[in-house]
Amino acid sequence: MKLALLGCIHGNPWAFEAVLEDLARMGVQERYLLGDLVGDAPGNNDVVAEVRKRNLSALMGHWDAACVTGDASLLREGAPEADPEGLRNALARVRGALEPTHQAFLLGLPKSLRLTVEGVRLHLAHGSPHRLTVGVAPEDAAAHRASLEAARADVFGCAHTHRAFVARAGPGLVVNAGSVGQSADGPEASYALVTLESGKAEAVIRRVAYDVAAWQKARAAAER
Ligand SMILES: [Zn+2]
Repeated sequence: MKLALLGCIHGNPWAFEAVLEDLARMGVQERYLLGDLVGDAPGNNDVVAEVRKRNLSALMGHWDAACVTGDASLLREGAPEADPEGLRNALARVRGALEPTHQAFLLGLPKSLRLTVEGVRLHLAHGSPHRLTVGVAPEDAAAHRASLEAARADVFGCAHTHRAFVARAGPGLVVNAGSVGQSADGPEASYALVTLESGKAEAVIRRVAYDVAAWQKARAAAER
């Protein structure tokens, strides 16, 4: 069974489309979106419409939660170095532009998901097992062990940090899908491809090229 974990699309339909095409190419059978469908970007309505049209399983991210509640403190927790007023303004802009039915859809998203596939227990969440705004970094082996323990699972799948990795911690596996729409570790979209078979899990990070120039042009036009 091939399962894909996708995170942090952040309103980038160019990157999302490219990744969806790659999933089809790779013969992925199941796909889960690990939150942050929206962000400070012009493509939020397009991305949420596509998720709803395809009936994809999605979790809530910290941007999605901020967007439906109006609580800018979630964004500050997620980006402590950012200018608070800039974040408040961005949130107001994003909320104002997001269609009401899409807001209602985001409000109904769960914060975590547990499933067993091919005898492997998976726990999926946006940041860490119980926090939307705390991510798991590739170099933090202690956090890998702690998140597997808190998740009580064989595989913990997450996103939020925009840095993709796969790490073994004892018998378990921590998989950070990175970011589809706003990678911090390269120009390409990233996601995780997890292969599950007879109680065993393997994962690799896929990097998918997309039209970054077209995306940047759309963003710049939206800011004018
Ligand atoms: Zn996030």
